[in-house]
Amino acid sequence: MKIAFVGLGNMGGPMAANLISAGHQVVGFDLSADAVAAAASHGVTAVETAEAAVVDADAVITMLPNGAIVKSVYASVLPNAKPGAVFIDSSTISVEDAREVNTQANAAGMLQVDAPVSGGVKGATAGTLAFMVGGDDASIAAATPVLEPMAGKIVPCGGTGNGQAAKLCNNMVLAVQQIAVGEAFVLAEKLGLSDQALYDVVTGATGNCWALQTNCPVPGPVPTAPSENEYKPGFATALMNKDLGLAMAAVSSTGSAAPLGTHAAEIYSAFAAENGHLDFSAIIETLK
Ligand code: NAD
Repeated sequence: MKIAFVGLGNMGGPMAANLISAGHQVVGFDLSADAVAAAASHGVTAVETAEAAVVDADAVITMLPNGAIVKSVYASVLPNAKPGAVFIDSSTISVEDAREVNTQANAAGMLQVDAPVSGGVKGATAGTLAFMVGGDDASIAAATPVLEPMAGKIVPCGGTGNGQAAKLCNNMVLAVQQIAVGEAFVLAEKLGLSDQALYDVVTGATGNCWALQTNCPVPGPVPTAPSENEYKPGFATALMNKDLGLAMAAVSSTGSAAPLGTHAAEIYSAFAAENGHLDFSAIIETLK
């Protein structure tokens, strides 16, 4: 299959490399010369513009920083793409923007899904990302074999925008849990309970969650956690802050009640001002 890949950054670069390993021809574009060079070293054919990348492509994948950029790239490449091609946007963007680009793509005769991911750069490199896919049945069916070489799990979530809805709901839960776990370690220490004892009890009890078991915010219990490595991400606070911004926009546009999510968004927003580069589990530092 000929696949166009626009946005060859920290995530897109290794994702494109996995498509090459699966035997696809990948034609890539990125504004950054370094990103293009790294992708080319994995076998991606580099071209000078996004418009050139999509010519004759069976699938077009975008992995870009935000919704405004995805919208502008769609507007410029849709006229050049082959009708019937499947467009897959794996960027994390708002549900509203995802539905808007879907409408544009459909109007140009393309299939289209939103397919945001979780799993980070590690998952992108290993080809084990979890894809949350929103779109009509024909688009999801066309996108699935394209996603497979990059995926550990592909979850169809319903109509267009629903992949993004799933992503922002998951990350709102995660944000709240990471703060709650931090609060428990701070309280336990003041009560004279060791970090290891708290970890051993809660991971085998009803309070267990990924934010504790895998992303333990204190060094000791989990050797692979970012807390063991001065909170080098992992999942950077800046990205969590971005995702919570999208979640809060959705809470507000739907009139939904999310008092804990809203408070978590405020806490991360303040923390991100100076610590955006740290793993989001470093939020425990603000509680100590
Ligand atoms: P990144 O900044 O490393 O990569 C984005 C790339 O897009 C950059 O190389 C940039 O040069 C390129 N770009 C920007 N505008 C462009 C344009 N108009 N045309 C072509 N290329 C352009 O970011 P990333 O970490 O790879 O994240 C990409 C997306 O994936 C974001 O939406 C992010 O929220 C989401 N995401 C990231 C992670 C993660 O752990 N990094 C995890 C899940 C989801």
